[in-house]
Amino acid sequence: MSPLPVPRAELVVDLAAVRHNVRVLSEHCGVAMMTVVKADGYGHGMVEVARAAREAGSTWLGVATLDEALALRAAGDTGRVLCWLTAPGEDYGPAIAAGVDLTAYSLAELAEVEAAVRRIGTPARLQLKIDTGLSRGGATPADWPALVEAARAGEVAGHWRVTGIWSHLVASDEPDHPANDSQERVFREALAVAEAAGLRPEVRHLANSAAAVLRPSVRFDLVRCGLASYGLDPAPGHLPDLGLVPAMTARATLAMVKDVEAGAGVSYGHTWVADRATTLGLVPVGYGDGVLRSASGTASVGIAGRQRPVRGRVCMDQLVVDLDGDRPEPGSEVVLFGTGRDGAPTAQDWAEAAGTISYEVVTRIGGGRMVRTHVDSERDTDTALDAALDAAPDSGSSTRGSGR
Ligand SMILES: *Cc1c(COP(=O)(O)O)cnc(C)c1O
Repeated sequence: MSPLPVPRAELVVDLAAVRHNVRVLSEHCGVAMMTVVKADGYGHGMVEVARAAREAGSTWLGVATLDEALALRAAGDTGRVLCWLTAPGEDYGPAIAAGVDLTAYSLAELAEVEAAVRRIGTPARLQLKIDTGLSRGGATPADWPALVEAARAGEVAGHWRVTGIWSHLVASDEPDHPANDSQERVFREALAVAEAAGLRPEVRHLANSAAAVLRPSVRFDLVRCGLASYGLDPAPGHLPDLGLVPAMTARATLAMVKDVEAGAGVSYGHTWVADRATTLGLVPVGYGDGVLRSASGTASVGIAGRQRPVRGRVCMDQLVVDLDGDRPEPGSEVVLFGTGRDGAPTAQDWAEAAGTISYEVVTRIGGGRMVRTHVDSERDTDTALDAALDAAPDSGSSTRGSGR
């Protein structure tokens, strides 16, 4: 099926798909784009995805941690980067020096940022987060006026510029959920309070992928798109078909094919017992590779364009599929999930099989031990692609590392 050499197991991430998705989302939304690349780009490789997103016109990158922001800078990114999750005592200095936009949730954080600014002698770029209902990070509406006053005072004193005001939605994947309306209302009130206090942020933002597509009224100046940038559907059953392309394909090499009699139990605990004589295929990936164990007995894989059900439990290093009497050659390509265009499952199919969301499917497998390779289906010729696949981890735009 594929002309590429297939190792035991690998993730192939198509950066052309990322660029395509970022462009589609930008055009659809008509405002500035922040591509969210936290958690190693949802398992797709943070630095490579970030580069592709910039090429496709993403003005901003979004990450959770200071370390992630600094890793983008270390990789040469010089554009706008927002980070939003710190713990008391973390050193803001390097991120301030690197021109990263920080997020403050509280007066205590403002004090820490001010101390870092005084220490390094560089003013910060600072965004403020209002908790509009998620009850996670951010200042509550009750604490908001004091945060805004202090932030404005720090701005007047030259400690920072307040560059943004933002919040995060509870149920953007459920367009009819009442939280959407109430959060938008609370956010608009918070913006008015900030404006009255004299703040003039560059960007106001509330929407993640699902809201960016489904709720035009919350696009404001900037949308923060994570999952949809990777070509996955953040609101299954609700999103219009925008032609997004899943960027990640997870594939392995069929290790073994064998016949079993009716009554043979399969994998640990014999949670599946063959009700007929059949053939089984051994796929050399498991939860040690980030394959979700909760998809035991429910997911399927694609072999030669046909879906084959996983039988019994997913083990640490391997899983077993039912070939139903067929005998594909050992060495054949097994697609766990990919674009869905070749008849194989998608990450969304795996999410449904495992009772989770596709966010977790890709982030987990990207954090496992599968080799991750970046390709570019627009730019790589077959020859260039083969060369890239054979290359060392640090060569060119293609990464063949541990995949962490
Ligand atoms: C992860 C995250 C996003 C991206 O969400 P998607 O649903 O993947 O688009 C946006 N904003 C914040 C604050 C996040 O933590």
